Amino acid sequence: LKRCIVSRRTIATINLNALRDNLALLMDYNSGSKVIAVVKADAYGNGAVNVARAIEAEVDIFAVAFLAEAKTLCEAGISKPVLVLQGPHSQQELYDESTSNLIWMLHSEWQLEAFAKYKQSTVVHKSAAWLKFDSGMHRLGLPIAQLPDLLAKYSSIIDENTVLATHLANADEPIQDHAKAQIDDFLAVALMVNLPICIANSAASIRFDQARGDYVRLGIAMYGSSPFQSHDNPVALKPVMSLDSQIIGLRTIEKGEAVGYGSTWRAARESVIATVSIGYADGYPRHAPTSTPAWCEGQLIPLVGRVSMDMLTFDVTNLSSVAIGDVVQLWGDKLPINDVADHIGTIGYELMTRISARVPRKYI
Ligand code: PLP
Repeated sequence: LKRCIVSRRTIATINLNALRDNLALLMDYNSGSKVIAVVKADAYGNGAVNVARAIEAEVDIFAVAFLAEAKTLCEAGISKPVLVLQGPHSQQELYDESTSNLIWMLHSEWQLEAFAKYKQSTVVHKSAAWLKFDSGMHRLGLPIAQLPDLLAKYSSIIDENTVLATHLANADEPIQDHAKAQIDDFLAVALMVNLPICIANSAASIRFDQARGDYVRLGIAMYGSSPFQSHDNPVALKPVMSLDSQIIGLRTIEKGEAVGYGSTWRAARESVIATVSIGYADGYPRHAPTSTPAWCEGQLIPLVGRVSMDMLTFDVTNLSSVAIGDVVQLWGDKLPINDVADHIGTIGYELMTRISARVPRKYI
Protein backbone atom coordinates (compact mmCIF):
# COMPACT_ATOMS: atom_id res chain seq x y z
CA LEU A 1 0.00 0.00 0.00
CA LYS A 2 1.35 3.40 -0.97
CA ARG A 3 -0.89 5.14 1.53
CA CYS A 4 -2.93 3.71 4.36
CA ILE A 5 -6.66 4.26 4.35
CA VAL A 6 -7.26 5.51 7.86
CA SER A 7 -10.82 6.65 7.14
CA ARG A 8 -12.86 7.64 4.12
CA ARG A 9 -10.90 10.46 2.58
CA THR A 10 -13.55 11.92 0.30
CA ILE A 11 -13.29 15.63 0.89
CA ALA A 12 -14.10 18.96 -0.73
CA THR A 13 -11.17 21.27 -0.12
CA ILE A 14 -12.21 24.92 -0.23
CA ASN A 15 -9.32 27.23 -0.99
CA LEU A 16 -10.18 30.55 0.65
CA ASN A 17 -7.04 32.21 -0.73
CA ALA A 18 -8.20 31.38 -4.26
CA LEU A 19 -11.61 32.83 -3.34
CA ARG A 20 -10.02 36.07 -2.11
CA ASP A 21 -7.73 36.26 -5.16
CA ASN A 22 -10.67 35.78 -7.53
CA LEU A 23 -12.63 38.46 -5.73
CA ALA A 24 -9.70 40.89 -5.94
CA LEU A 25 -9.35 40.26 -9.69
CA LEU A 26 -13.08 40.75 -10.23
CA MET A 27 -13.07 43.92 -8.12
CA ASP A 28 -10.29 45.32 -10.34
CA TYR A 29 -12.48 44.63 -13.36
CA ASN A 30 -15.44 46.29 -11.68
CA SER A 31 -13.64 49.06 -9.83
CA GLY A 32 -16.48 51.56 -10.25
CA SER A 33 -19.10 49.24 -8.76
CA LYS A 34 -19.89 47.97 -5.29
CA VAL A 35 -19.75 44.20 -4.89
CA ILE A 36 -22.55 41.86 -3.92
CA ALA A 37 -21.15 38.40 -3.16
CA VAL A 38 -23.75 35.79 -4.08
CA VAL A 39 -23.64 33.11 -1.36
CA LYS A 40 -27.00 31.42 -1.95
CA ALA A 41 -27.19 27.61 -2.02
CA ASP A 42 -24.58 27.40 0.75
CA ALA A 43 -22.23 29.56 -1.33
CA TYR A 44 -22.65 27.24 -4.32
CA GLY A 45 -21.75 24.28 -2.10
CA ASN A 46 -18.60 25.89 -0.70
CA GLY A 47 -20.14 26.71 2.71
CA ALA A 48 -21.95 30.06 3.06
CA VAL A 49 -20.78 30.96 6.56
CA ASN A 50 -17.10 30.19 5.97
CA VAL A 51 -17.13 31.90 2.57
CA ALA A 52 -18.92 34.97 3.96
CA ARG A 53 -16.50 35.24 6.89
CA ALA A 54 -13.52 35.01 4.53
CA ILE A 55 -14.63 37.93 2.35
CA GLU A 56 -16.85 40.03 4.60
CA ALA A 57 -14.30 42.85 4.86
CA GLU A 58 -14.01 43.16 1.06
CA VAL A 59 -17.62 43.04 -0.12
CA ASP A 60 -20.51 45.45 0.37
CA ILE A 61 -23.47 43.08 0.45
CA PHE A 62 -24.18 39.33 0.44
CA ALA A 63 -26.98 37.83 -1.64
CA VAL A 64 -29.04 34.74 -0.87
CA ALA A 65 -32.18 33.28 -2.44
CA PHE A 66 -34.62 33.37 0.48
CA LEU A 67 -35.04 34.29 4.14
CA ALA A 68 -33.84 31.01 5.69
CA GLU A 69 -30.49 31.45 3.94
CA ALA A 70 -30.23 35.02 5.24
CA LYS A 71 -30.91 33.76 8.78
CA THR A 72 -28.00 31.32 8.54
CA LEU A 73 -25.63 34.22 7.83
CA CYS A 74 -27.16 36.43 10.48
CA GLU A 75 -26.98 33.70 13.15
CA ALA A 76 -23.30 33.19 12.31
CA GLY A 77 -22.63 36.84 13.09
CA ILE A 78 -22.30 38.19 9.56
CA SER A 79 -23.13 41.88 9.86
CA LYS A 80 -22.97 43.14 6.26
CA PRO A 81 -26.40 43.62 4.64
CA VAL A 82 -27.97 40.53 3.07
CA LEU A 83 -29.97 40.91 -0.14
CA VAL A 84 -32.81 38.37 -0.41
CA LEU A 85 -33.08 37.80 -4.16
CA GLN A 86 -36.55 36.20 -4.18
CA GLY A 87 -38.00 38.88 -1.92
CA PRO A 88 -40.42 37.86 0.84
CA HIS A 89 -42.39 34.66 0.17
CA SER A 90 -45.17 35.94 2.42
CA GLN A 91 -46.18 39.20 4.08
CA GLN A 92 -45.20 37.81 7.51
CA GLU A 93 -41.57 37.36 6.45
CA LEU A 94 -41.18 41.14 6.36
CA TYR A 95 -41.90 41.24 10.10
CA ASP A 96 -39.47 38.46 11.01
CA GLU A 97 -37.47 39.77 13.94
CA SER A 98 -34.68 37.22 13.89
CA THR A 99 -32.66 38.90 11.16
CA SER A 100 -31.33 42.40 10.83
CA ASN A 101 -29.77 44.26 7.95
CA LEU A 102 -31.91 42.65 5.25
CA ILE A 103 -32.54 44.05 1.80
CA TRP A 104 -35.58 42.59 0.07
CA MET A 105 -35.51 42.35 -3.72
CA LEU A 106 -39.16 43.11 -4.52
CA HIS A 107 -40.26 41.68 -7.86
CA SER A 108 -44.08 41.44 -7.67
CA GLU A 109 -46.68 44.09 -7.03
CA TRP A 110 -48.05 42.30 -3.94
CA GLN A 111 -44.57 42.65 -2.42
CA LEU A 112 -44.55 46.40 -3.10
CA GLU A 113 -47.92 46.72 -1.38
CA ALA A 114 -46.79 44.60 1.55
CA PHE A 115 -43.56 46.56 1.91
CA ALA A 116 -45.45 49.89 1.79
CA LYS A 117 -47.62 48.67 4.72
CA TYR A 118 -44.57 47.40 6.55
CA LYS A 119 -42.91 50.79 6.21
CA GLN A 120 -45.98 52.51 7.64
CA SER A 121 -46.22 50.04 10.52
CA THR A 122 -44.88 50.66 13.99
CA VAL A 123 -42.12 48.09 13.50
CA VAL A 124 -38.65 49.50 13.97
CA HIS A 125 -37.55 49.54 10.34
CA LYS A 126 -34.53 47.45 9.76
CA SER A 127 -34.91 46.25 6.21
CA ALA A 128 -34.54 48.08 2.93
CA ALA A 129 -36.13 47.32 -0.43
CA TRP A 130 -34.70 47.10 -3.92
CA LEU A 131 -36.89 46.76 -6.98
CA LYS A 132 -36.36 44.12 -9.63
CA PHE A 133 -37.58 44.64 -13.19
CA ASP A 134 -38.10 42.09 -15.96
CA SER A 135 -36.15 43.33 -18.97
CA GLY A 136 -36.45 40.11 -20.97
CA MET A 137 -35.61 37.06 -18.88
CA HIS A 138 -39.28 36.57 -17.96
CA ARG A 139 -38.61 34.72 -14.72
CA LEU A 140 -38.97 37.33 -11.95
CA GLY A 141 -39.44 41.08 -12.04
CA LEU A 142 -41.92 43.91 -12.38
CA PRO A 143 -42.75 44.86 -15.99
CA ILE A 144 -40.02 47.21 -17.17
CA ALA A 145 -42.48 49.37 -19.12
CA GLN A 146 -44.31 50.14 -15.86
CA LEU A 147 -41.19 51.35 -14.02
CA PRO A 148 -42.11 55.07 -13.97
CA ASP A 149 -45.72 54.38 -12.94
CA LEU A 150 -44.74 51.90 -10.22
CA LEU A 151 -42.16 54.29 -8.75
CA ALA A 152 -44.83 57.00 -8.63
CA LYS A 153 -47.50 54.68 -7.16
CA TYR A 154 -45.18 53.26 -4.49
CA SER A 155 -43.19 56.42 -3.81
CA SER A 156 -43.51 55.75 -0.06
CA ILE A 157 -41.07 52.84 -0.32
CA ILE A 158 -38.47 54.65 -2.40
CA ASP A 159 -35.64 56.24 -0.47
CA GLU A 160 -31.88 56.72 -0.65
CA ASN A 161 -31.38 52.96 -0.16
CA THR A 162 -33.48 51.89 -3.14
CA VAL A 163 -31.71 50.25 -6.08
CA LEU A 164 -33.23 49.29 -9.43
CA ALA A 165 -32.17 45.83 -10.60
CA THR A 166 -32.60 43.39 -13.44
CA HIS A 167 -31.15 40.00 -14.39
CA LEU A 168 -29.79 38.91 -17.78
CA ALA A 169 -30.83 35.62 -19.39
CA ASN A 170 -27.90 35.25 -21.78
CA ALA A 171 -24.82 37.00 -20.39
CA ASP A 172 -22.86 33.72 -20.67
CA GLU A 173 -23.87 32.90 -24.26
CA PRO A 174 -21.51 33.29 -27.23
CA ILE A 175 -24.16 35.37 -29.05
CA GLN A 176 -24.56 38.63 -27.20
CA ASP A 177 -27.61 40.21 -28.90
CA HIS A 178 -30.19 39.28 -26.27
CA ALA A 179 -28.04 40.37 -23.33
CA LYS A 180 -27.24 43.67 -25.03
CA ALA A 181 -30.93 44.27 -25.80
CA GLN A 182 -31.84 43.60 -22.16
CA ILE A 183 -29.16 46.03 -20.94
CA ASP A 184 -30.29 48.72 -23.41
CA ASP A 185 -33.98 48.26 -22.60
CA PHE A 186 -33.32 48.40 -18.86
CA LEU A 187 -31.02 51.43 -19.03
CA ALA A 188 -33.40 53.33 -21.33
CA VAL A 189 -36.01 53.32 -18.57
CA ALA A 190 -33.95 53.06 -15.36
CA LEU A 191 -31.67 55.99 -16.19
CA MET A 192 -34.69 58.31 -16.43
CA VAL A 193 -34.85 58.23 -12.63
CA ASN A 194 -32.01 59.11 -10.37
CA LEU A 195 -31.52 55.82 -8.52
CA PRO A 196 -28.59 53.38 -8.37
CA ILE A 197 -28.73 50.35 -10.67
CA CYS A 198 -27.65 46.70 -10.49
CA ILE A 199 -27.63 44.49 -13.61
CA ALA A 200 -24.59 42.24 -13.87
CA ASN A 201 -23.95 38.69 -12.76
CA SER A 202 -20.40 37.28 -13.12
CA ALA A 203 -20.48 36.93 -16.91
CA ALA A 204 -21.94 40.39 -17.52
CA SER A 205 -19.57 42.01 -15.03
CA ILE A 206 -16.62 40.78 -17.11
CA ARG A 207 -18.12 41.21 -20.56
CA PHE A 208 -20.38 44.26 -20.64
CA ASP A 209 -19.08 47.67 -19.52
CA GLN A 210 -22.58 49.13 -19.63
CA ALA A 211 -23.91 46.43 -17.28
CA ARG A 212 -21.58 47.19 -14.38
CA GLY A 213 -23.69 49.97 -12.86
CA ASP A 214 -23.54 50.81 -9.16
CA TYR A 215 -23.52 47.18 -7.94
CA VAL A 216 -22.45 43.87 -9.49
CA ARG A 217 -23.71 40.47 -8.26
CA LEU A 218 -20.82 38.02 -8.34
CA GLY A 219 -21.35 34.29 -7.95
CA ILE A 220 -19.70 31.60 -10.04
CA ALA A 221 -16.63 33.63 -11.03
CA MET A 222 -15.80 34.25 -7.38
CA TYR A 223 -15.80 30.47 -6.91
CA GLY A 224 -13.23 30.24 -9.69
CA SER A 225 -15.21 28.74 -12.53
CA SER A 226 -15.52 30.41 -15.92
CA PRO A 227 -18.94 32.07 -16.17
CA PHE A 228 -18.96 31.70 -19.95
CA GLN A 229 -20.38 28.84 -22.01
CA SER A 230 -17.14 28.90 -24.00
CA HIS A 231 -15.27 28.32 -20.68
CA ASP A 232 -13.04 31.33 -21.51
CA ASN A 233 -11.25 32.55 -18.42
CA PRO A 234 -10.03 36.10 -19.22
CA VAL A 235 -9.68 37.02 -15.54
CA ALA A 236 -7.43 34.01 -14.71
CA LEU A 237 -9.81 32.75 -12.03
CA LYS A 238 -8.60 29.92 -9.81
CA PRO A 239 -10.84 27.03 -8.73
CA VAL A 240 -11.96 27.32 -5.12
CA MET A 241 -13.39 23.81 -4.64
CA SER A 242 -11.35 20.66 -5.26
CA LEU A 243 -13.26 17.42 -4.80
CA ASP A 244 -10.99 14.50 -4.00
CA SER A 245 -11.52 10.89 -3.07
CA GLN A 246 -9.31 7.82 -3.03
CA ILE A 247 -8.98 4.39 -4.55
CA ILE A 248 -10.33 1.70 -2.21
CA GLY A 249 -10.24 -1.27 -4.59
CA LEU A 250 -8.20 -2.42 -7.61
CA ARG A 251 -8.67 -5.43 -9.91
CA THR A 252 -7.66 -6.65 -13.33
CA ILE A 253 -10.51 -7.93 -15.49
CA GLU A 254 -10.42 -9.94 -18.73
CA LYS A 255 -11.42 -8.60 -22.12
CA GLY A 256 -15.24 -8.93 -22.39
CA GLU A 257 -15.92 -8.73 -18.64
CA ALA A 258 -18.33 -6.05 -17.37
CA VAL A 259 -18.18 -3.54 -14.50
CA GLY A 260 -20.87 -2.35 -12.08
CA TYR A 261 -24.67 -2.41 -11.83
CA GLY A 262 -26.40 -3.43 -15.02
CA SER A 263 -23.05 -4.55 -16.51
CA THR A 264 -23.29 -1.52 -18.79
CA TRP A 265 -19.56 -1.29 -19.64
CA ARG A 266 -17.49 -4.17 -20.97
CA ALA A 267 -13.72 -4.21 -21.23
CA ALA A 268 -12.42 -4.12 -24.80
CA ARG A 269 -9.04 -5.36 -23.52
CA GLU A 270 -7.63 -6.70 -20.29
CA SER A 271 -8.23 -3.73 -17.97
CA VAL A 272 -7.30 -2.45 -14.53
CA ILE A 273 -10.33 -1.08 -12.71
CA ALA A 274 -10.02 1.31 -9.74
CA THR A 275 -12.95 1.70 -7.35
CA VAL A 276 -13.18 5.15 -5.78
CA SER A 277 -15.07 6.04 -2.59
CA ILE A 278 -17.58 8.62 -3.84
CA GLY A 279 -21.00 8.17 -5.45
CA TYR A 280 -24.36 9.73 -6.12
CA ALA A 281 -25.15 10.00 -2.39
CA ASP A 282 -22.24 12.45 -2.23
CA GLY A 283 -23.74 14.45 -5.10
CA TYR A 284 -21.74 13.00 -7.99
CA PRO A 285 -24.42 12.71 -10.72
CA ARG A 286 -25.67 9.18 -11.33
CA HIS A 287 -26.16 9.90 -15.02
CA ALA A 288 -22.43 10.69 -15.57
CA PRO A 289 -21.59 8.66 -18.68
CA THR A 290 -18.65 6.39 -19.48
CA SER A 291 -15.50 8.43 -20.17
CA THR A 292 -16.36 11.28 -17.79
CA PRO A 293 -12.83 12.25 -16.70
CA ALA A 294 -11.22 12.29 -13.28
CA TRP A 295 -7.56 12.93 -12.42
CA CYS A 296 -5.13 10.46 -10.85
CA GLU A 297 -1.34 10.36 -10.68
CA GLY A 298 -0.97 13.23 -13.18
CA GLN A 299 -3.29 11.75 -15.82
CA LEU A 300 -6.95 11.81 -16.77
CA ILE A 301 -8.78 8.54 -16.21
CA PRO A 302 -12.19 7.63 -17.72
CA LEU A 303 -15.25 6.66 -15.67
CA VAL A 304 -16.53 3.20 -16.61
CA GLY A 305 -19.75 1.48 -15.53
CA ARG A 306 -22.65 3.01 -13.63
CA VAL A 307 -22.24 5.48 -10.78
CA SER A 308 -23.24 3.71 -7.52
CA MET A 309 -24.48 5.30 -4.30
CA ASP A 310 -21.03 5.40 -2.67
CA MET A 311 -18.58 4.36 -5.39
CA LEU A 312 -17.28 5.10 -8.87
CA THR A 313 -15.20 2.85 -11.12
CA PHE A 314 -12.45 4.10 -13.42
CA ASP A 315 -10.33 2.42 -16.09
CA VAL A 316 -6.76 2.99 -14.88
CA THR A 317 -5.07 0.56 -17.30
CA ASN A 318 -3.01 3.38 -18.80
CA LEU A 319 -1.54 4.54 -15.49
CA SER A 320 2.05 3.38 -15.04
CA SER A 321 1.66 3.08 -11.29
CA VAL A 322 -1.53 2.91 -9.29
CA ALA A 323 -2.29 1.70 -5.77
CA ILE A 324 -5.02 1.48 -3.19
CA GLY A 325 -5.03 4.79 -1.32
CA ASP A 326 -4.15 6.91 -4.37
CA VAL A 327 -5.99 10.22 -4.55
CA VAL A 328 -8.48 10.71 -7.37
CA GLN A 329 -9.66 14.24 -8.09
CA LEU A 330 -13.18 14.50 -9.50
CA TRP A 331 -12.71 18.22 -10.27
CA GLY A 332 -10.76 21.16 -8.91
CA ASP A 333 -7.24 22.51 -9.20
CA LYS A 334 -6.13 19.59 -11.43
CA LEU A 335 -9.25 19.26 -13.59
CA PRO A 336 -11.60 22.16 -14.41
CA ILE A 337 -15.14 21.53 -13.21
CA ASN A 338 -16.53 22.71 -16.55
CA ASP A 339 -14.66 19.92 -18.40
CA VAL A 340 -16.39 17.38 -16.17
CA ALA A 341 -19.74 19.16 -16.47
CA ASP A 342 -19.53 19.07 -20.28
CA HIS A 343 -19.28 15.27 -20.23
CA ILE A 344 -22.20 14.97 -17.85
CA GLY A 345 -24.39 17.40 -19.81
CA THR A 346 -24.62 19.96 -17.02
CA ILE A 347 -22.83 23.08 -15.75
CA GLY A 348 -20.24 23.66 -13.04
CA TYR A 349 -22.87 25.45 -10.92
CA GLU A 350 -24.94 22.28 -10.65
CA LEU A 351 -21.99 20.00 -9.85
CA MET A 352 -20.76 22.34 -7.09
CA THR A 353 -24.13 22.95 -5.47
CA ARG A 354 -25.06 19.24 -5.44
CA ILE A 355 -22.16 18.04 -3.30
CA SER A 356 -24.02 16.65 -0.31
CA ALA A 357 -23.61 17.23 3.42
CA ARG A 358 -21.93 13.80 3.67
CA VAL A 359 -18.77 15.25 2.10
CA PRO A 360 -16.71 17.15 4.67
CA ARG A 361 -15.48 20.59 3.63
CA LYS A 362 -11.92 21.40 4.54
CA TYR A 363 -10.92 25.08 4.44
CA ILE A 364 -7.37 26.02 3.50
N1 PLP B 1 -28.12 37.43 -9.61
C1 PLP B 1 -29.16 36.58 -9.60
C2 PLP B 1 -30.55 37.13 -9.54
C3 PLP B 1 -28.95 35.20 -9.63
O1 PLP B 1 -29.98 34.36 -9.61
C4 PLP B 1 -27.60 34.74 -9.67
C5 PLP B 1 -27.30 33.29 -9.73
O2 PLP B 1 -28.00 32.44 -10.15
C6 PLP B 1 -26.55 35.65 -9.68
C7 PLP B 1 -26.84 36.99 -9.65
C8 PLP B 1 -25.12 35.21 -9.73
O3 PLP B 1 -24.85 34.64 -10.99
P1 PLP B 1 -23.39 34.09 -11.35
O4 PLP B 1 -23.16 32.94 -10.43
O5 PLP B 1 -23.54 33.65 -12.77
O6 PLP B 1 -22.46 35.20 -11.14
